[in-house]
Amino acid sequence: METFTEEERRLLEPFVSNMDKPIFVLRNLPEVVKGALFSRYSRSTKSLRRTLLDEFIKNRDIGLDAALASGKGGSGAAGDGFVGIVATDKAEQFYDRVLLGYGDDSVAELAGAHIALEDISIIATKLVEDARIGLSPLEKSTRYVYFDQKDENGKWRYYEEPELATSEFAEVYRGTCDKLFGTYAALIPKVSKYVSEKMPKGELLSERAYEATVRSKTCDIIRGLLPASTKTNMGFFGNGRAYEYLITKLYADPLAEMRELAKSMQTELRTTIPSFVKRPDTPHGREMQDYIRNTRLDAQGASVPAEPGAEGVTLVDYDQDAEERIIAAALYPYSGLPMKGLLAYAKTMPQEMREKIIAAYVGERQNRRHKPGRAYECARYTFDICANYGCYRDIHRHRVLTQQRQVLGCLHGYTLPREIVESGYEAEFKEAMDAARGAWETIAKKRPLQAQYVVPLAYRIRWQMTMNLREAFHFCELRSAMQGHVDYRRVAQGMFREIEKAQPNLAKHMKFMDMKEYEFERLEAEKRLDSKIAESMKKHGN
Ligand SMILES: Cc1cc2nc3c(=O)[nH]c(=O)nc-3n(C[C@H](O)[C@H](O)[C@H](O)COP(=O)(O)OP(=O)(O)OC[C@H]3O[C@@H](n4cnc5c(N)ncnc54)[C@H](O)[C@@H]3O)c2cc1C
Repeated sequence: METFTEEERRLLEPFVSNMDKPIFVLRNLPEVVKGALFSRYSRSTKSLRRTLLDEFIKNRDIGLDAALASGKGGSGAAGDGFVGIVATDKAEQFYDRVLLGYGDDSVAELAGAHIALEDISIIATKLVEDARIGLSPLEKSTRYVYFDQKDENGKWRYYEEPELATSEFAEVYRGTCDKLFGTYAALIPKVSKYVSEKMPKGELLSERAYEATVRSKTCDIIRGLLPASTKTNMGFFGNGRAYEYLITKLYADPLAEMRELAKSMQTELRTTIPSFVKRPDTPHGREMQDYIRNTRLDAQGASVPAEPGAEGVTLVDYDQDAEERIIAAALYPYSGLPMKGLLAYAKTMPQEMREKIIAAYVGERQNRRHKPGRAYECARYTFDICANYGCYRDIHRHRVLTQQRQVLGCLHGYTLPREIVESGYEAEFKEAMDAARGAWETIAKKRPLQAQYVVPLAYRIRWQMTMNLREAFHFCELRSAMQGHVDYRRVAQGMFREIEKAQPNLAKHMKFMDMKEYEFERLEAEKRLDSKIAESMKKHGN
């Protein structure tokens, strides 16, 4: 191991998790310094510790030494964050001046930030979550949390779309959102009572598990009433590069909320990763915004007819030769043939042999996390789906695929939950849906994009998903699991059936599909949670 003097060790120790092993973690450093450090490291013969010491800690311009000397970054202060505050500004100047020559855009992936986006609309969550790479979102659930709290002014918590709020549509917009929230809130106790009567509490179920099951079932039944303008909260962890692109895209969006969001995100991210969120409003960034704006076909006057669709999943296109592609790709690492040769070899292979190879490649899957290997990425499927926006909202979260949605509206009708009919609240539900459709029709004639905000989650939307078979395993098995919402479980089941119809030999290895329907989806999950809580209490002695 490289040796350091006593003094060097004293300087380095606050910033690394150990001084004597080749694997270590960086700590107490501003995000910008970490990014800059790695970019410098990639062009240096020195070790990371040596680079950190010589070029960063000893570099007066950055201010790490001053932070240490003031005692704010001493080893006793590990994790206190002072070093970050002291050094970010100077590190940024250093980064800009000296280090931009040491890396390409990917350097910005080496620094990250957590950001909270509160009180944004559901429409906005979908636009920010369209960004797939380098971002990990988590969002307030419509399945476990009631959205029935009013704000400090006694108003329902929905986004006031500024262009509608100052237009002739202001009244119809507010009136409709108020009605939807009013119906949603009024149905909570009624539907909750209906659910608890249907599910008497057995002796085996704790009070906590019972209440959680009733609550989530109630949420699942009534969430369709919430308009897309509903304010929600989300958090992200992401890297600088991903934020840069996301902010640029949001600035270029036709909706005012997104442009406002871009500005707020950029302002806040400047406090932790300033160098990485500069570009969106530089001339280069503005050029990029223009490019995104100008390639929108609607901005160029494209108008394509629309027609109402029915709920369902359609497999539009798939690789007919998926089996051969997968076999060739599975054998590739173990063979010396080029891909074309392997494809030809797979083509002439007897069926029995093909099945043997596929079975050996998939192996004995013990649970859904045992996913087949990369060869399964060589077969692709394109689905066209029409289902309610609440369902889309959940499914959209899958990143390892290509998804595109159409503009949200009321053209394809809405999902009426069976339980709403059975509990006798169909009239209230329908009245709210009809009001929403009326408002949407009025607003959409002039402002189709803004009209989306008034559409409740029960209305259907059409979207397209292209994915490889490996992701299809993950998606279909996860989203058909018992605890999922009935609406997206049906989509996952529908997709599985389509793949099975097209390629039964491949689909049969999706062993963890759950094709059943359940009355209380969360019940078993809550029972398992009860056992885990009991186990943890036993372990920790309380
Ligand atoms: C029952 C249920 C309840 C849920 N509740 C909530 C909730 O309350 N709030 C909420 O926000 N979400 C919720 N989700 C959504 C969930 O958090 C995931 O966002 C969603 O299921 C997508 O899953 P995924 O990330 O595994 O899939 P994909 O994005 O499709 O990714 C596929 C796989 O690729 C890998 N991968 C992809 N991106 C990354 C990355 N950045 N880093 C590391 N690995 C990566 C992972 O192995 C992942 O499983 C819920 C999902 C389910 C099924």
